[in-house]
Amino acid sequence: MTKSDQELGMNRRMTRRDFIQDTGLAALAASLPSGVQGSASQQTNHQNYPPTRTGLRGSHPGSFEAAHALSDGARLATATDLNEHYDLVVVGGGISGLAAAYYYQRRFGAKAKILIIENHDDFGGHARRNEFHQGGQMRLSLGGTHNLEHWKFSDTANRLMSDLGINHQKLRESMEFTYGYGAKNGDAIWFDEETYGTNKLVYGYTLENWSLGQSIECIDEFPLSAEAKDQLKRLYTTRSNMLRDSSKAEAEALLSGISYPDFLRQYAGLGNEAIQLFNTSQHGTWGVELRALSAAEGFSAGLPGLNLLGAVEEMEDRDYPVTMFPDGNASVARLLVQKLIPEVSPGANVDNIALAKFDYGRLDDVASSVRLRLNSTVVNAHNTADGVMVTYANGSQTVSVTSNHCVMACYHSMLPHLLPELPDEQKEAQKYNVKMPLLLANVLLKSSKSMDKLGIDHVSCPGRMLRDLFMFKGINTGGYAHPMDDDGPVPLVFWGSLSPPPEAQTFKDQLRTSREKMLKFNFSDYEREIRTVLDGLLAPAGFNVQEDILAITVNRWPHGYSYEYLDLWDEDFEEGKAPHEVASRPYGRITFANSDAGASAYTHVAIDEAYRSVSQLP
Ligand SMILES: Cc1cc2nc3c(=O)[nH]c(=O)nc-3n(C[C@H](O)[C@H](O)[C@H](O)COP(=O)(O)OP(=O)(O)OC[C@H]3O[C@@H](n4cnc5c(N)ncnc54)[C@H](O)[C@@H]3O)c2cc1C
Repeated sequence: MTKSDQELGMNRRMTRRDFIQDTGLAALAASLPSGVQGSASQQTNHQNYPPTRTGLRGSHPGSFEAAHALSDGARLATATDLNEHYDLVVVGGGISGLAAAYYYQRRFGAKAKILIIENHDDFGGHARRNEFHQGGQMRLSLGGTHNLEHWKFSDTANRLMSDLGINHQKLRESMEFTYGYGAKNGDAIWFDEETYGTNKLVYGYTLENWSLGQSIECIDEFPLSAEAKDQLKRLYTTRSNMLRDSSKAEAEALLSGISYPDFLRQYAGLGNEAIQLFNTSQHGTWGVELRALSAAEGFSAGLPGLNLLGAVEEMEDRDYPVTMFPDGNASVARLLVQKLIPEVSPGANVDNIALAKFDYGRLDDVASSVRLRLNSTVVNAHNTADGVMVTYANGSQTVSVTSNHCVMACYHSMLPHLLPELPDEQKEAQKYNVKMPLLLANVLLKSSKSMDKLGIDHVSCPGRMLRDLFMFKGINTGGYAHPMDDDGPVPLVFWGSLSPPPEAQTFKDQLRTSREKMLKFNFSDYEREIRTVLDGLLAPAGFNVQEDILAITVNRWPHGYSYEYLDLWDEDFEEGKAPHEVASRPYGRITFANSDAGASAYTHVAIDEAYRSVSQLP
């Protein structure tokens, strides 16, 4: 039965409704068209310190309107020259932009004058810190980027980690968090009443391939038809090799040419009811619906079916040996900022970075050789006779600065609008990169008791808007501790993307329509969904939806993961001719960084591309 907003506690006082206006944002909102105002009031100002703001975060209101107006064809306003000249201007204050500033200092000297321009009210890009104080003790969570896949790092990325004092072994040793694998009752799937007719929590089962070793009887508990349950059981238990008559090349071509859901339909005999369970299973890790992935990509993501192809893929070790900070890779961004502008947080280092205070008032200090300017959207950059001119919008002002060099560490799809005189081939290549939308909502619960009572810390919700949720504690590093056995206030992370409408056929249409949906939803839409899920899932374990939620921060990333080439949608590009390679060719005194330049959505790629972009400067 659908509950009213009042029954869900939507009327309850929560931090986001304190409505303490951040003056900077309020001023910015006042300069924007009326349709984009309003949400700035959903921000809570905690001593003008962005990580504590709740409500709609990530790509927050006020951060993207200038860029969207430009891509919608708005004419550039005449800029006022600030008479500021730098050695380097970096566009984008994400990991790649920060790393570019660091590499520039290494190449051109520590005294180089650098300006980093960032459109959000916080630095780090996707590596965003969410901080909560509503339960008394500070609790940290992930605003975007989670972890470091350190075994994939290049020597370049490893050297930067070492310069920042990051030791992966030490990080691992202080990490109890396991994305839910270690919970008493193992994995859990929650079937919701709206989709499946009844609220039902099933433990000890995942839809992924490693569940071959788990109790198949769990499927009997699924609130699905007997036919769908039989189909699922057959999918997991049948051992055959239906491609035995195909050569290796034929089998590979088949598996990379068919979507994973079609494979389930045609080769495993699943109907729509059973397939529905898988549709959003890769929303968090890939940012896309399963219909965008090939069967081969589905298998590599751990989804079932290899047993039908003669392979036995039982996963014995589910460890995912990433390293993490308690605010995700925001700690990496903070360490970089501290290295570039030490006055922002004197004495901060890897051992105290989680608790270190950052003085945002010192980020853009005229006395510092490196300056970081927030709330500023670059709208144009062009080569001049002796350098580069960069124009940006800040509130209602349009201003310009000059530099010897410029690194564009921002989204590539935006570059054709910022540098309209680039060669057409390069602009087309930049437009190819349509980023994948992602969403991370942090809900600060009064306590973890209801989750503990159920013995779970990760739940998959195949019928809901956001597929996965997990408790975030057990990372005790950087001076911060939140042990797994602490049952006090705890962030619960909802992680996923939004499904595009079924009529969106091509992959890029799917990405674009999902992004539009993400931007159209207001905070209440997300809050209602979160409360509905928590009520249905946790009320049987004593959770009170009206009382037990202390704060909600919704980080929407409409431009999330970099575009990665997929089997069903992209050709095999010749080396040097792939869109990301053409897109990032140097242009006069301007070069191009960002993980988009590597067509790979990873922190270490953002670092590698920063290094390359600085090496290419004339
Ligand atoms: C939700 C999420 C989770 C992720 N998890 C992981 C993970 O666990 N591990 C991992 O390795 N990677 C992860 N990634 C990918 C990783 O975050 C990125 O590859 C990396 O952080 C990208 O850094 P970047 O600097 O290239 O880009 P970004 O982080 O996007 O930074 C670019 C910055 O430029 C700004 N900008 C854009 N246009 C302009 C403009 N015109 N003017 C001024 N500024 C502009 C943007 O707002 C942004 O802040 C995740 C990404 C997302 C979205």
